[in-house]
This record gives sequence, structure tokens and C-alpha cells, in this order.
Amino acid sequence: MNFDAVAKTSLLTAAMRAVETNRSENDGRLFTDPFAEVLAGSEGFSILGRVRAEVGEQPSIPLRTRYFDDRIIQGLAQGIRQIVILAAGMDTCAYRLSFPDGAWVFELDRPEVLSYKQERLANTLPRCTRYAVGVDLRGEWQSKLIEAGMNTTDRTLWLVEGLLLYLDEAEVLTLFEEIDSFSVPNSILLFDVLGRSLLDAPQMAKHQQFSETLGAPWRFGVDEPEKIMEQFGWKAVATQPGEVDPTRWNFPTAPRHVPNVPRIFFVEARKLSGVFP
Ligand code: SAM
Repeated sequence: MNFDAVAKTSLLTAAMRAVETNRSENDGRLFTDPFAEVLAGSEGFSILGRVRAEVGEQPSIPLRTRYFDDRIIQGLAQGIRQIVILAAGMDTCAYRLSFPDGAWVFELDRPEVLSYKQERLANTLPRCTRYAVGVDLRGEWQSKLIEAGMNTTDRTLWLVEGLLLYLDEAEVLTLFEEIDSFSVPNSILLFDVLGRSLLDAPQMAKHQQFSETLGAPWRFGVDEPEKIMEQFGWKAVATQPGEVDPTRWNFPTAPRHVPNVPRIFFVEARKLSGVFP
């Protein structure tokens, strides 16, 4: 497998989704992903073993998948039919959620990641029209998305899950700018991001060290993701993991107005019409 270190983290998240899938309903299972185990493969479970041994369980990951599943279902119910998943990795939304007729999903990631996924899911049909688009998101990816058939005049739901922490601030801002330039008003952007106060917290030192050992260091964090989106003309609402399902989050959830608290955010942003009072 010719994956780089960040690409390998897609196998890790698949392994985590497989573990969640094996929870019982009585034990508060958040979703089922029947494809996660085969996608994770032995490499994904091996990285998961190291994560558990060195930094412990990561309860935010299944909560984040549940949060994004719910937001996608809501976006489809609100009439959005075009979904673009950046850094899709082993995401299986296209294979396991219910889609209305006429919905299509573009999955963008490195070509080798999408080929691996294609091989593993060769006998599985997506539940919507799915396009896999091999790109480097640090380069020029937009023309490839257009060639694949993205319609820039349609409302789009963008999903950027598990990517931003591996980028630096300039790369994050460029990505948001690119997404914005391809979005009509009322498009939706979903992403997760670590708070800067969490990234810099002493209790995160072992996580930082481990991510460096993996070769995928954590870089980007922000305490007020709403403000970043505001500068692009998007209105964002940030949700914390404990607000998705408090029974699955054993940490306090500080009210949003308390500053400088270590937090994880799941964000839903909506592009405003551009007509400001
Ligand atoms: N979104 C998926 C999920 O949550 O399961 C995958 C997240 S995984 C932690 C990070 C993904 O980002 C990997 O699949 C990796 O290949 C992709 N990625 C990172 N940098 C990229 C780049 N420059 N171009 C394309 N994909 C990239």
C-alpha cells in the first residue's frame, strides 16, 4: 500500500467506525457502517491498537460521524442533492445513508486512497450516484471536480471530516476560499476542528507526540471557528461532542461563551446570500 502517513489515518477512522458498528444498540451505538471493517483492513486495526495503547480511546470520532450523518440527512431533506466530500478517505456515506432520487456524491482524496477503496468495495453498489475524484487538495483540485460533473450553480453540501488538523492555517484558509468560490448561497459546509486551546493544552502533549510518531502531526486548531466562516460570508454553528450525545462523552462541556476552554468542534456553516442589511 503506497499511502502516506495522513492517508493511513483514513484506515484508522474506518477501524474506529468498525468498532462502533459492533457495539450493541443497548450500549448506545451511534451508527452502523457495515463496510468499515473491510476498509480498515489489518493496517487500520493495527494503528488503532497503537492509539489505544499510547493515548487511549478517542470517543469524539464516532460522535463526529453521527453528527455529520445527521447533518447530511437534514441537508437532503432540505432539498440539497449535490454533496462533495473532501478528503473522503474510507467515508461510506454514499453506501449506507438513504438518498432521494437525483442525489449525487463526489468523493475527493488522493488517487491511491480512492483506488484502494474501489478495490475493497468492488462488489458494493452506492445508494446514490457516486463519483471518485483523485486529487491533491493542496494543489489545483477544482477543475477536476468540474470535469467530474460538479454543478457550481446548484446548492452544495460540502463535508470536510478529519482533514483540517493536518493542514496549516494558510492551507485551511485557502481551502475555505476555494470552497466558497464554488458555492452558491445556502450551500452548507460541514467540518470538524480542534480548538487551539485543546491543541496547546499540556494534556495533549502525548497525542501530539503520537501524531508525530505516525508522521501525521497535528497543526491547525481554532477556538472560534464561527469567526473564520464569518469572514467568508458564512454563518456557522459549532457543536461540541458532548452535545451530540452526552451519554457517550465523559468530559464536561463548557458553555460556548466561556473562553479558552479546550474544545473539539463539529461545525455546520451556511453561505449567506451576500445581501447584508
Ligand atoms: N474523511 C474521512 C473520515 O473522516 O473517515 C478520512 C479522514 S482521514 C483522517 C484524512 C484523509 O485526508 C485521508 O484520507 C487523506 O488521504 C486525506 N488527505 C490529506 N491530505 C490530502 C491532500 N492533500 N489531498 C487529498 N487528500 C488528502
